[in-house]
Amino acid sequence: MQTRIEVGILGATGMVGQHFIRFLQGHPWFDLRWLGASDRSAGKRYRDAMTWHLGVVPDTVSGITVDDCKPGHAPRLLFSAMDASVATEIERAFAQAGHIVVSNSKNHRMEPDVPLLVPEINPDHLKLIPGQQRARGWTGQIVTNPNCSTVGLTMGLGPLKQFGIAKVIVTTMQAISGAGYPGVASMDIVGNVIPFIGGEEEKMQQETQKILGDLRGDHIEPLTARVSAHCNRVGVVDGHTETVSVEFLSKPAQADLRHAFDSFRGVPQERALPSAPPRPVIYMEDANRPQPRKDAERERGMAAFVGRLRPCPALDYKFVVLSHNTVRGAAGAAVLNAELMYSEGMLD
Ligand code: NAP
Repeated sequence: MQTRIEVGILGATGMVGQHFIRFLQGHPWFDLRWLGASDRSAGKRYRDAMTWHLGVVPDTVSGITVDDCKPGHAPRLLFSAMDASVATEIERAFAQAGHIVVSNSKNHRMEPDVPLLVPEINPDHLKLIPGQQRARGWTGQIVTNPNCSTVGLTMGLGPLKQFGIAKVIVTTMQAISGAGYPGVASMDIVGNVIPFIGGEEEKMQQETQKILGDLRGDHIEPLTARVSAHCNRVGVVDGHTETVSVEFLSKPAQADLRHAFDSFRGVPQERALPSAPPRPVIYMEDANRPQPRKDAERERGMAAFVGRLRPCPALDYKFVVLSHNTVRGAAGAAVLNAELMYSEGMLD
């Protein structure tokens, strides 16, 4: 781990791009050197190309000249926070040109040969990469992280997969930061709940089945569980809270589930990856926790906080899970993916 690896960001001027910049400050392995955005920003100093929303623009990037998002000058490893309307073609062009694209965009997540990773849960899905490169004739590759609401759900369900998940019903209370900037109009969200987030329920349902699915040769066999999501936007700044009911194929005792949450660890913990929380799932005893304001920022925003595990009269058990949507649900997730890839020797 001696030489730091140069990295860049596609879509560096956007809201998620800024979260990437903040999260990568002081990273022990990754050295942020290159920032890409649209033609509107290319050629400008970073500080002049965007409006920074996260405090003070870090000195390390303030003076960098923004490049356009065409292969040529960028480092091999790129984090992508591209606008979804252009991410498909741009990310493919970089992968074709030999870049490792670790993307936060939705565009490629559900493609059968693209890993959709939660490193604690399905690190073996990285084995899709050789097939992806063969089929597409790429020397580079694309790896993705889940939607910001899916990541909390899968971190809550991952420890329970061993009991055979049959049905899941999840209701979200999602923070406004998940809608980017300026996001939802203040007149719509203050003192209000919006019971619709376009495309979100479908993403949660499909991505959960892929992430909790099993690698079979060159493809993922999705989890056969039925997953039903209700997605709501609420007046919280950061942190998606989700209430989850689960039915199991086996009939575990409540203590078995609790033990599964408490003992859950993954490859990132075994390898002590720099952004891995020591405990990816933290169970909270208090009946009124987790709460986004009190808990979302803990563990650098990289853990999932679970609480209120109890029997469910409709399915078998129910609980609440909270995760930080712009950290574990976006920039932090992608950086952890890249750390996992580095630890696998995939960035050599
Ligand atoms: P955003 O603020 O609108 O930023 C979009 C970025 O894409 C900007 O850097 C923009 O550059 C760049 N871009 C737009 N058109 C381009 C083009 N033709 N060529 C090159 N670059 C172009 O969006 P965001 O909220 O950060 O979201 C970025 C991605 O992350 C989206 O796919 C979104 O779905 C996903 N996501 C967002 C969140 C969230 O919390 N906001 C959470 C999870 C996932 P310019 O500034 O030069 O226009």
